[in-house]
Amino acid sequence: MRRILFQSLLKPPLTEAAPAPDDGALAELAASVERAARKRLGRSLSIREVDAGSCNGCELEIHALANAFYDLERFGLRFVASPRHADVLLVTGPVTRNMQEALRRTYEATPDPKWVVAVGDCAADGGIFAGSYAVAGGVHEVVPVDLHIRGCPPSPLQLLKGLLALLTPP
Ligand code: SF4
Repeated sequence: MRRILFQSLLKPPLTEAAPAPDDGALAELAASVERAARKRLGRSLSIREVDAGSCNGCELEIHALANAFYDLERFGLRFVASPRHADVLLVTGPVTRNMQEALRRTYEATPDPKWVVAVGDCAADGGIFAGSYAVAGGVHEVVPVDLHIRGCPPSPLQLLKGLLALLTPP
């Protein structure tokens, strides 16, 4: 035990290096999302995340958007605690039968204009859980979906690209 403690004092922490201050792609993408949101809504974007039955892999990537590494709040993108304050519902997982009603109510509680983004392969069509007796199917089986972001799980960069596509229709 003493040896492990001593080693942990000498070793550097196991973590990714912080992005360089001028790390282009991510900052540019996030700034574009912020600009597109201001153009469409006249303010920054509020996001409510709904786990409809995922394995939590997709959540980890979504939560990464708010951590110190990506820190998207600096671009005005906010995660909110209530659907009543949200513009976008990010829904993950196959919709389990237990979450069906909760997802429907969350959708109804979100004011217009609103968008629903199905995040991950499971949210698109049930993914690896498709056909399970406990699963109702993809998110579109329960509420209307505006955009699917595929991946198992999709990366934070893919999530940002999806949000940008959502806010800047052709
Ligand atoms: S898409 Fe992959 S990571 Fe996301 S909930 Fe399904 S199995 Fe988990």
